[in-house]
Amino acid sequence: MTIVATERLYIYDSYLREFAAQVVGRQVSDGKPAIALDRTAFYPTGGGQPNDRGTLAGVPVLDVIVEDGVVWHILAAECPREEVRGVIDWSRRFDHMQQHTGQHILSQAFVVTCDAETVAFHMGADASTIDLNRADLRPDALAAAETVANAVIDAAHPMTATVVTQDELAQLPLRKPPKVTEAIRVVQVAGFDWSACGGTHVANSSQVGLVKITGIERRGSELRVTFLCGGRARADYARLQALASGLATRFTCAQDEVLGAVERLTAEHKVIRKDLADLETQWVEATAAAWWGEAAPQGQQRVILRAIDVPVERAKKLAQALRVRPGALVILGVLGERPQLLFTRADDVSLNMGDLLRTVAAAGGGRGGGRPDWAQGGVPSNEALGVALDAARVRIMNDE
Ligand SMILES: [Zn+2]
Repeated sequence: MTIVATERLYIYDSYLREFAAQVVGRQVSDGKPAIALDRTAFYPTGGGQPNDRGTLAGVPVLDVIVEDGVVWHILAAECPREEVRGVIDWSRRFDHMQQHTGQHILSQAFVVTCDAETVAFHMGADASTIDLNRADLRPDALAAAETVANAVIDAAHPMTATVVTQDELAQLPLRKPPKVTEAIRVVQVAGFDWSACGGTHVANSSQVGLVKITGIERRGSELRVTFLCGGRARADYARLQALASGLATRFTCAQDEVLGAVERLTAEHKVIRKDLADLETQWVEATAAAWWGEAAPQGQQRVILRAIDVPVERAKKLAQALRVRPGALVILGVLGERPQLLFTRADDVSLNMGDLLRTVAAAGGGRGGGRPDWAQGGVPSNEALGVALDAARVRIMNDE
């Protein structure tokens, strides 16, 4: 049995939140029950706008799709009734209306201010994007388009949506040619924009509330503009206000002074990092010299076997500074939450550090390995580090 195309109530009335309908078809879609109705106010995903949600006979509608003109409502559970009452999730729908109308206004504002055409539109869960056919727009051009869009919102232009014939269409200054050839629906922002569109829109441009561009991204010869409208823009303002006041509190200054405070902090940080690097170099050289002096010569070798509590990167620099001394055998344990073993030796010492580390790390319940002259590993605790270092001491003594 073929099902006739669904009558779409939102085309004539975007503000219709409840309706009654007859079930005319049933199927299973990805394991979920789906029903078709003779008429629906549910908007199916399309034209850059996501589907509506809501309920049919109290059953949640998860998704809405179109197949051959039939609107299918994907349900969370079976709906055995033949006559259903549909209720649209209005906050979601009205948000979509604000974003979509805002897009029409912003797209036309880009035409008016910078002669930039919109080639794609996508409404995301958090933000929407339009792709412009020009990638060379500067910040002042974006600001100009945003200003025009908000002026259109302030001017409270009435919005209409009408289905027109081809002849009527030829009389309208459409922003771009329609993708369909029959029953073309033209959405008009009175006196400003005419677009072929099947989406849901607010009744007056003032209901968009606000358009705010929040980001741009160059994509080849196109520019992707991210924007927020209405409730989303207000929520974003609240988020930014909380962020700015949080920063001002942290820096104990006014919001306008935060940037200057961050710049001063960054400059200070740079100087401190430089100082720290210099001091680290001095400490590494001094410590290496002191430890070398304290290590008793054993024939041609000096064994430096120690546990230290410094960052691993600093311990590596120390090991490097020691291993350049002929006869050096360096066995370091780095204390910490993740204790490390760091074994190295001078080029004139023959003991294989990779083999030694693998064996003693295992004695401490850890693992590791490496080259004959440089090896690293980890053990589970500082106690295990002590066990591994003792094992290393015994093996080196036996080796001699
Ligand atoms: Zn549209």
